[in-house]
Amino acid sequence: MLPDMSFRRHTASTPRVSIATAALIAVAACAACGSSGGSGSGGGGGISVVATTNVYGDIVSTIAGSAVRVTSIISDPDQDPHSYEGDAKTQLALKKADLVIENGGGYDGFVDTMLDSAGGDAKVLNVVDISGRDPGGDGEFNEHVWYDFPSMTKLVDAIVSELSSVDAKAALTFKANGDALKKGIQGLEDGVTAIASSAGNVSVAITEPVPLYLLEACGFYNKTPKAFSEAVEEGSDVSPRDLQQMLSILADGSVRILAYNEQTNGPETRQMLEAAKRAGIAAIPVRETLPAGEHYVAWMRGYLTQIQDALAA
Ligand SMILES: [Zn+2]
Repeated sequence: MLPDMSFRRHTASTPRVSIATAALIAVAACAACGSSGGSGSGGGGGISVVATTNVYGDIVSTIAGSAVRVTSIISDPDQDPHSYEGDAKTQLALKKADLVIENGGGYDGFVDTMLDSAGGDAKVLNVVDISGRDPGGDGEFNEHVWYDFPSMTKLVDAIVSELSSVDAKAALTFKANGDALKKGIQGLEDGVTAIASSAGNVSVAITEPVPLYLLEACGFYNKTPKAFSEAVEEGSDVSPRDLQQMLSILADGSVRILAYNEQTNGPETRQMLEAAKRAGIAAIPVRETLPAGEHYVAWMRGYLTQIQDALAA
């Protein structure tokens, strides 16, 4: 329905991969076998890791160092984890993988289907499971757990442990790199604590739940009508009543920040961004994937800086 439907929908209840896609994957897998002369040729030796997005790809690379080959399935900011369709390269990477990191919670279920047809014996880390946050069954779970710093600390521990079990000789390196990364994440948590203790009562608005764990950790109250942010994320119709309510909380000065998903470009997102600008409200662009050339901690620190700047303004 929209010209740009990137990243619009990750509800857990939605079927992930169509029959046509599954067939495509199966064909692609065979094609890959035929053209490469079978798996196992390797070349780099070492451990092979596949992450569904470059956020987790970056985290595992930081821990693993250069000895481990990391493939991120989704790095392109225009690629939607929801509508991602398997290709032969990904299928082959999954087949050869020692470790697969998926977000879970309905976000990137395509990888489960691909793993089923790829075979292989990869250990799978599901970040939502590791987070301990309960997806429930209502389809309203916020699956964007990489905005939740305590969950990322748990993920680092899980990755260190898995990599070490595959390559015990490098365990000390993995631990040292993991500890350094956790220190960085602790710095982020300290930043959140500082914001939460000095900000007072701050209300915010969002176009989609993407950054919600971070905003809530800062102690902010999310004034967005729930049905609005859910509809925008799912790409379904926003009711006139929710649209009006959203416009009025932006116009009446009751929120200090609008966090908007800059990887979607739907009419509602654009409309809210314009309304925030008109009202002089700080608009913070957030993303589903890691920007090119960035690393996780610095990327997240950038958000904390933008939040601090917004509150200081
Ligand atoms: Zn999303």
